[in-house]
Amino acid sequence: MMLEDSNKSTSEIALCEQGSQADTNTEKASWPQQLRRGIVTLSQLQNRGWLAENQSGAALEKAQEALDIRVPVSFHDGIEHGDSSLAKQVIPSAEEAFIAPEELADPIGDEAFSPCPGLTHRYRDRALVKITYQCAMYCRFCFRRHKVSHAEENLSIDALQDAYNYIENHDEIKEVIFTGGDPLVLTDSRLEAHLKRVEAISHIETIRFHTRIPTALPERITAQLCERFSHSRKTLWVVVHINCASELSAPTLDALSKLRRAGVGLASQSVLLKGVNDSQEALESLFRGLYRAGVVPYYLHYPDLAKGTNHFRIPLEKALQLVSSLDGQLPGLALPKLTIDIPGGFGKISISNENFRLLTGTSWEFRSPLTKQWQKVEYPQ
Ligand code: SF4
Repeated sequence: MMLEDSNKSTSEIALCEQGSQADTNTEKASWPQQLRRGIVTLSQLQNRGWLAENQSGAALEKAQEALDIRVPVSFHDGIEHGDSSLAKQVIPSAEEAFIAPEELADPIGDEAFSPCPGLTHRYRDRALVKITYQCAMYCRFCFRRHKVSHAEENLSIDALQDAYNYIENHDEIKEVIFTGGDPLVLTDSRLEAHLKRVEAISHIETIRFHTRIPTALPERITAQLCERFSHSRKTLWVVVHINCASELSAPTLDALSKLRRAGVGLASQSVLLKGVNDSQEALESLFRGLYRAGVVPYYLHYPDLAKGTNHFRIPLEKALQLVSSLDGQLPGLALPKLTIDIPGGFGKISISNENFRLLTGTSWEFRSPLTKQWQKVEYPQ
């Protein structure tokens, strides 16, 4: 019970602020209200009959302690009708209590490339700025779950000034990626402050948003937001996180269409998840649906070694076979690259024979794009 209360208080601080500013106009009022209607407690899940039976209450509470619960309204109908690919992504499970020895708190090594709070500068020409750690839904496999949903980790725009000064002083950085958490969960006025600050930096050419909003909270893609995007002084990209075809609902397709009409470039990233999209049919239908919606499927991520996420991973050999099975089934533009972020902060690679090799069983070696050295990686059985 205590955990549920603390979950509620951390989530609602930001949600109330968002709502208070937005309730002045009908269109803007709808998205904060939808956000607040998300399911955020174990007892709400239990009342709906959405928790699997015979799970230890203590393990579920531990899962919630590690990462808040937020099941967005956009998923409710699908889950109610038995769509397990939606349910598995957002409903906590006692399996999260199992931490494999290979799993890490910071699996992609953000902290090692963070010269100041909220900033990651891993690749020469681009930098990540984490403008909030809150999201419109919490994915149980989240790779940044050591910080995501923890309200105390959020940084105000004042606290991010060092990050922006750093970007200003490094003219090799050509792109800023707003991420988190989900950057589009911020109110228009907060988002404006960040956007304006980055748009004023002359050597920044493109601004990218990594977001789950078109699927988690499509109402957030308002006419006002699109109008602002269409007037940006920089080229904008939105990379949408979508994992299964049933997330491409009519409101999601409408949100994507509005972004396209605002002149924003659209790409997607998906995570290959056991029990969600680990079949040829599921992936084909997802990528075809994205392509039809004008979204270029960009990355298919092999799940990072985040703590408590082993039940989402299929063996890497199987992942490779699955992706090969799509060759020739879809246009090349609709086929994303199978990508691995080498655990420990050695960078992201799209795997090919030149940069990965199997040693034995579950031991692999990947060639880091950053150090050019081979890194040995153990995946759990
Ligand atoms: S939306 Fe992204 S950052 Fe938020 S919980 Fe899901 S994976 Fe993590």
